[in-house]
Amino acid sequence: MQKGNYKLPISQRVYLIAILKGMGVTARHFFKNILRPGQMPTISYPEVKRNYSPRFRGLQILTVKENGDIRCTACMLCATACPAACIHITAAEHPDPKVEKFPQEFNIDMLRCVFCGMCEEACPVDAIRMGPTYELANFDRSDFIFTKEELVKHGNNTVSQVKHH
Ligand code: SF4
Ligand code: SF4
Repeated sequence: MQKGNYKLPISQRVYLIAILKGMGVTARHFFKNILRPGQMPTISYPEVKRNYSPRFRGLQILTVKENGDIRCTACMLCATACPAACIHITAAEHPDPKVEKFPQEFNIDMLRCVFCGMCEEACPVDAIRMGPTYELANFDRSDFIFTKEELVKHGNNTVSQVKHH
């Protein structure tokens, strides 16, 4: 056969079979989703939310002691371990002589965080955990810098109440 002389069969030139096949696939999924909505792969987010694995690494939580005091001792290990350099801590002396230090400021820049969990791994006193929350949307870049107060608020978070890995 000479190059350039090949002609597609009529069935392929009008694309009719391919169009009907495509419509068949669409119709099959349409009726399957209507008849068996429980098996649909999509969900009506945000009304419906997926259950994530307990190992899911979401927004950080700063845990507190039973008396409500923050557990963090401002040792800086998490900030040192963080590969994204997004944890900023200002340590201060605690008024209670039995407690050496506490974080006067503890900020995490969530626009830099890569959710690696190294901060949680590094902490010797279980003061920071990766929580279950994955929703992270704001209108202003500055709102992505989470303060100590916000990080505490992320969970109902005495250590006994926060998930265990
Ligand atoms: S999860 Fe990783 S990147 Fe995010 S603050 Fe912790 S150590 Fe840094
Ligand atoms: S959260 Fe943990 S590792 Fe980070 S400064 Fe506080 S005590 Fe140290």
